Amino acid sequence: MKEERYDVVVVGASNAGGMAAGAARQKGAKVLVIDKESTVDYLYRNTIASVNSSAQKQAGIKIDKRELVEFLSAFAQDNVNQKLLWKWANESGEALDWLEENILEPNGDHLYVEADAKYETLINKAFPTGNEVTSDDKSWDRGWGRYMIKELKNMGVDFAWKTKLEHLITDSQNKIIGLEVRDEDTSKVRKIYVNKGVVICTGGYGNNLALMQKWAPTLLKKNTFGQGPRDDGSGQIAAMEVGAARDEEPASIIFDRGAVPVGTNIIDFYINDWQSHQFVLGSYPLLKVNLRGERFFNESAPYQFAMNSLMHQPGHLEVMIWNEKTMDNLKQFHTLGCSRLGWPGIFDTDGEKKLLKKFLELGYVQQADSIEELAEKMNLPKDTLINTVKKYNEMCQKGEDTEFGKEAYRLFPVDGAPYYAVTLGGILLATLDGVRVNDSMNVLDENCNPIKGLYAAGNCAGGFFWGSYPDRVPGLTASHAITFGRLAGLNVVSEN
Ligand SMILES: Cc1cc2nc3c(=O)[nH]c(=O)nc-3n(C[C@H](O)[C@H](O)[C@H](O)COP(=O)(O)OP(=O)(O)OC[C@H]3O[C@@H](n4cnc5c(N)ncnc54)[C@H](O)[C@@H]3O)c2cc1C
Repeated sequence: MKEERYDVVVVGASNAGGMAAGAARQKGAKVLVIDKESTVDYLYRNTIASVNSSAQKQAGIKIDKRELVEFLSAFAQDNVNQKLLWKWANESGEALDWLEENILEPNGDHLYVEADAKYETLINKAFPTGNEVTSDDKSWDRGWGRYMIKELKNMGVDFAWKTKLEHLITDSQNKIIGLEVRDEDTSKVRKIYVNKGVVICTGGYGNNLALMQKWAPTLLKKNTFGQGPRDDGSGQIAAMEVGAARDEEPASIIFDRGAVPVGTNIIDFYINDWQSHQFVLGSYPLLKVNLRGERFFNESAPYQFAMNSLMHQPGHLEVMIWNEKTMDNLKQFHTLGCSRLGWPGIFDTDGEKKLLKKFLELGYVQQADSIEELAEKMNLPKDTLINTVKKYNEMCQKGEDTEFGKEAYRLFPVDGAPYYAVTLGGILLATLDGVRVNDSMNVLDENCNPIKGLYAAGNCAGGFFWGSYPDRVPGLTASHAITFGRLAGLNVVSEN
């Protein structure tokens, strides 16, 4: 049988993989992309961060790179590689321009930017980094990944779907010379050889319970749901088999809006599926209490901070309390990113009301005519909840949160029926810790030496995030994948 051989094989056809393939092909390489699933259209995301993309320049948006890198570095307490942060700040604009010119514009889409990054407190520091993929400046083009695949095929990139990387093949010097892959339909295993190298773009490990227990056990306490059903960590394991080092501490992106039934025990509750449990209103800084009915933190904080705070609370879940009047005043909370009211955001007021109706019907949201009745329905101590709401309302009336310091414009009393409540836990969108790379995206071994011919980008590559995701830098995960995917694709060709 004829040997199957390419210059470059990219593993994973999503954000990082598509960009890596395009870049390697642009450099003249013969490129194959493999993916263990049959489609990636909807994995290409709508909000993508950058510094100085053409769209941002045209809109007059100026972001101070030094300030942004310093912010990211401080957010991670320097448990990251600052060279990678600078690389991203310096290269993300060019990567997004390539994407817009070569993939989006030929298919009627473009990047739209929104300058809004209002914040009043240090904890909410925000940057206008988001570029939104749209055709009409009114809605996102979800599923634009179909354009990426189409254009890559037009450029001459080959694809093998339902094809899973099992192991990497090395020579006696531990240089990558190929890979062993399995056909997911037939289970047949075959070898593919490479002249230059392999780029791993295989995402996280949030759907691999054993790896979660080993690498990030606290994430199982912080999350009720996972939204990455294909994230099995297999690419990272394959890289580690040939000596790749990886981050020693976890990083993740968690949304604080996973609605669960009353009485859920988070310890036994981690469900990974595609069904949406996202109750978007849950990311609003409304009154939130622990399972004892007590307020426990300043609700006006990055999404993930709620789940971090809950690690110190009984049961690790929170209950959000609000009323019908709140629903007509959502604008005043001035939320950003993907809880923004209106586009670019997921819902407007009508959308939020429809979602409320749906979650009421599902029984996740409970409705009551009094706080006492609400406490009963939510299984919360009645007297404590009544006192908490009373105190909160008094602070709202005075316009000062003397307990935790929430901004005055985000104080809205829970006063007047109907009242609502929902129990919330975290939704793990993705794990962000991965194999160690240098700023060429070349994978490193335990001694920080490059493994020749092995590159990694996106959520399977580490050194860029640590702990919680800075959601006030909107679109950073997709941009990390897109920017570094492109660099990995260029470098695997030029360095080998
Ligand atoms: C609902 C949702 C919305 C989001 N929205 C945004 C957003 O708007 N902006 C943003 O910045 N981030 C967003 N994110 C996060 C973002 O999706 C990820 O950070 C991004 O997809 C990472 O891209 P990636 O290419 O590294 O990995 P992935 O997108 O996870 O892709 C990895 C690919 O590798 C394939 N693969 C894995 N293992 C193997 C193997 N062994 N062999 C072959 N193939 C393999 C998988 O099938 C998959 O196609 C969102 C996440 C979710 C869940």
